[in-house]
Amino acid sequence: MSKVGSPENPLRVAIIGAGPAGFYTASSLLKRKDLCVQTDMFDGLPSPFGLVRTGVAPDHQKYKSVIRAYDKRAQTPDYRFYGCVEFGRHIELPDLKEHYHQVVFTTGAQTDRSMGIPGEDLAGSHSATDFVAWYNGHPDFVDYQFDFSQTRAAVVGLGNVALDVARILCRTKAELLRTDMADYAIEVQMDRIARELEMDPLELRMINAYRDGDMKAIRKKVTGAALVETMRAAAELAGHALPAGYDGMSSKHRDENHG
Ligand SMILES: Cc1cc2nc3c(=O)[nH]c(=O)nc-3n(C[C@H](O)[C@H](O)[C@H](O)COP(=O)(O)OP(=O)(O)OC[C@H]3O[C@@H](n4cnc5c(N)ncnc54)[C@H](O)[C@@H]3O)c2cc1C
Repeated sequence: MSKVGSPENPLRVAIIGAGPAGFYTASSLLKRKDLCVQTDMFDGLPSPFGLVRTGVAPDHQKYKSVIRAYDKRAQTPDYRFYGCVEFGRHIELPDLKEHYHQVVFTTGAQTDRSMGIPGEDLAGSHSATDFVAWYNGHPDFVDYQFDFSQTRAAVVGLGNVALDVARILCRTKAELLRTDMADYAIEVQMDRIARELEMDPLELRMINAYRDGDMKAIRKKVTGAALVETMRAAAELAGHALPAGYDGMSSKHRDENHG
């Protein structure tokens, strides 16, 4: 038989998971000049792109534009996508081994990590994974229920996902209509959360939690009364204290009001 990787006997690779890791794997294989490769990508969801579609905030279109590069790479006869095929349910390793020379798993991190703190499982306490998947229209999360009759929300954490959630909670319905958030999420939504505070990146920097790269993502003003409490609680949990005199207003407004 001819050598694996030759035009007569291409290297056949199954990639499980159509998120960024899957696409970079396919891309790097398909770029090889010395190998003739055929890639088949399988995903449990009907559509590709993983968390770029169902994780990245709906108002961050720029980050989602990476999909265009993946899409371009997919426009080759040596790449095929099979949606609604879940590994472990519809296909198993022995099935794949029969048809492929290599199998690559790029299934990401699908579950959230429990924090192990009292009250974590009470009604009204949700993981960002669930909330973000719900407002991004992930098919497995469309029936989840969140209580938007409340006017205050606490977000525990200081990472970019915490900021995404806080920012989305503070956006007006009109603003959300310009994003690709799921229609049902915009409908039930978040317009009822109070918005009294302005916060600028400087304050986030002051609590020593953000790298410069993250600042760009939140350079737009974030408003909302909920955010003061969010930042206070999160800062305390992270072992930081909010600056003395912190009142939730941007430094510009503080100067105007107290100067
Ligand atoms: C809320 C949130 C916001 C984020 N914001 C940003 C951001 O602004 N900028 C940024 O750069 N990164 C952001 N990230 C991180 C980024 O989305 C991830 O780093 C990236 O998507 C990880 O890629 P991945 O391919 O490893 O996994 P994923 O994107 O999770 O893709 C894995 C794929 O595997 C599929 N899969 C899982 N199990 C199976 C199975 N058994 N069978 C078949 N298919 C399966 C899933 O359906 C999914 O499509 C964010 C993440 C989250 C959660």
